Amino acid sequence: MPFHSQQRSKKSVYLKAANRLRIVEIQEVNRESPDVKTFRFQDKLCGKAEPGQFVMVWIPGIDEVPMSLSTITPNGSTTITVAEVGEATKALHQKKQGDILGIRGPYGKGFTLSKGNTMIAGGGTGLVPLMPLTGELVKLSTKLTLLLGAKTKDKLLFLDRLDQMLSMVNAEIVATTEDGSYGLKGVVTDQAEQKLAKEKFDMIYACGPEQMIHKMFTLAEKYYTPLQISLERIVRCAMGLCGSCIIGRLKVCKDGPVLTSEQLRTVEDEFGKFKRDFQGRRISV
Ligand SMILES: Cc1cc2nc3c(=O)[nH]c(=O)nc-3n(C[C@H](O)[C@H](O)[C@H](O)COP(=O)(O)OP(=O)(O)OC[C@H]3O[C@@H](n4cnc5c(N)ncnc54)[C@H](O)[C@@H]3O)c2cc1C
Repeated sequence: MPFHSQQRSKKSVYLKAANRLRIVEIQEVNRESPDVKTFRFQDKLCGKAEPGQFVMVWIPGIDEVPMSLSTITPNGSTTITVAEVGEATKALHQKKQGDILGIRGPYGKGFTLSKGNTMIAGGGTGLVPLMPLTGELVKLSTKLTLLLGAKTKDKLLFLDRLDQMLSMVNAEIVATTEDGSYGLKGVVTDQAEQKLAKEKFDMIYACGPEQMIHKMFTLAEKYYTPLQISLERIVRCAMGLCGSCIIGRLKVCKDGPVLTSEQLRTVEDEFGKFKRDFQGRRISV
């Protein structure tokens, strides 16, 4: 078989397998903050995921929701980190070690790894897809600046894990809280602006509330720095078919969730302004 056909058929076998619902057993549950928990399970395909990709998690009898991978390991030991916000995530938070979940995926486009001087900015649970990314960037970057923020100290995620990950490399961690209960008082984007005004970065990675990532996009444009963000929209099929996650001409589940500055420039009239609800109606972000 010609090389290209072999590659195509490998890809279609992978996609078929990824689309199949697998039942996994929860091996471990850890509380990260008052409303966030991490769930560990074993899945071979997730072991091959790129940082920034997500899975659809089926909570039997309730719903199926998208979740980014917070740990990716080649042996398939995988975690998702979930904020309790509504019905599905509440039901997920009640799950214990030994309970089962269904998963499909990994789906979507992940982050493209960049060498050189990189900035990573995460707000709240936006840090989730940035964790496996940071794990890869420590092998490539000459310098890493990690900006993480939350409203209060108890909502800051992954501080110990990040300290450990970055201890052996040229890296700086700057934590911010809105109430000043830990690190610097203020928001991540203020710190990002100060750094960008002083230093040239080769790439910015960001994930968090949409107003925050929109501000990061504006800063990246102002300082002529390439940017990749992970964006959330209502994801249902995760295969690019149902259109629930559309923004401009882009489908977040297929073209994203990681989008580049070039892609964001094409959706500037929507990004940071409005999204669609479950009925497809425009609502402000
Ligand atoms: C690609 C992607 C990755 C995500 N990764 C994470 C993650 O790592 N950790 C995390 O805590 N959350 C993540 N989310 C958000 C998570 O999917 C929603 O919080 C969850 O679906 C809420 O479901 P619910 O039934 O608990 O809440 P609901 O009460 O149904 O909804 C609360 C809010 O959650 C959002 N939401 C609900 N259903 C969906 C859906 N199917 N797709 C997208 N958003 C939805 C909407 O903004 C809604 O207003 C991610 C979303 C996307 C699109």
